[in-house]
Amino acid sequence: MAASRSSSTSFSNASTSPCAACKLLRRTCNSDCVFAPYFPDDQSQQFANVEKIFGASNVANMLNDLPIHQKGDAANSLIFEADARVKEPIYGCVGAISRLQLEVAQLQKELCSAHTGIDRYGVYTAGQEYKGSAYGGASASF
Ligand SMILES: [Zn+2]
Repeated sequence: MAASRSSSTSFSNASTSPCAACKLLRRTCNSDCVFAPYFPDDQSQQFANVEKIFGASNVANMLNDLPIHQKGDAANSLIFEADARVKEPIYGCVGAISRLQLEVAQLQKELCSAHTGIDRYGVYTAGQEYKGSAYGGASASF
């Protein structure tokens, strides 16, 4: 890719480089292109994934139906989901979510085990009247 970034913030001149979507779809990119703000010319791979997974016309319809302040988030979400689906065709985003949920469950287990260890340590140090419900209550004296 030639990294000639020419004022991609203003889309007034259609003769400069088209957005990634129009480049892939081989169409003219004009000032009212729905893709241009979210898929600049240096994001061709992202748009290729989004187009492959969702289809260009579906993405255009989705972006057109949204209020302007939600379009950027929607485009980012589509990019993320398409990327996940390309990397993991069966599970997509759900694969990442499942892995993270498993990790959270494992860490909660470890945390619980650590709290139990702290409780035991509290029993040993506090002596006779340890309630064992408050974590970090080793120095508590009632
Ligand atoms: Zn365009």
